[in-house]
Amino acid sequence: MNMTESPRSKQKMRQLLKEHFRYHTGNSWNRATSYARNIKVRKLGLDRETELKCYDMLDIPESFDEFSAILHDFAIRHDYAWQIGQNGRSGGYLVLYQGGKKDSGHKTCCTDCFIPTWYETRQPCHVEGCSGTLELLRGPLWQPFTYPGRGTDDDCDYESWSHEDLRRRLILVKDFDRTCDLAVESFIHFAKSHKITEEEVMVPKTVKVAVAI
Ligand SMILES: [Zn+2]
Repeated sequence: MNMTESPRSKQKMRQLLKEHFRYHTGNSWNRATSYARNIKVRKLGLDRETELKCYDMLDIPESFDEFSAILHDFAIRHDYAWQIGQNGRSGGYLVLYQGGKKDSGHKTCCTDCFIPTWYETRQPCHVEGCSGTLELLRGPLWQPFTYPGRGTDDDCDYESWSHEDLRRRLILVKDFDRTCDLAVESFIHFAKSHKITEEEVMVPKTVKVAVAI
């Protein structure tokens, strides 16, 4: 974005941030909110046929594979300090969350099954059937976390913000918007290019039977 440092551009940036749609980060009684997007199917402005296809796909987990990957890419781009999560009844909103990474505390990792463990020393793997050895990790394993109750720029008028602060926040919010667009588009594309069929699956079941001895 190429914004000159004029009072007018500051005013424009403040306005864009202020007018951005917001939603709760936690429950509605927790008053924290953040930048958000309504992704309810009926709010997407689709024709009736596409809308019906989207409703059909809501129950199919794999229709969200690409959608989730796009949201995860956003978190990676921002090193998990910013993440996009779903909130609201039936997940009808995408919300910008704050988060981070912390040391998972794992000490060792198996040379064979690569499962990280909290065991300190070099010793045989504890996973049944694995003959690997636990070796000390070379560095910490990072684990992402989210602050579900933390809002971003709640009740904020941005008046005291510098040009640079505003510019950076706007870059983040625009990335959020673009990522939401991409995620929603990928879901719609999936819905349009797939149809639902019913398949019978065999479910293995253990039953008790009496055998004569
Ligand atoms: Zn192992």
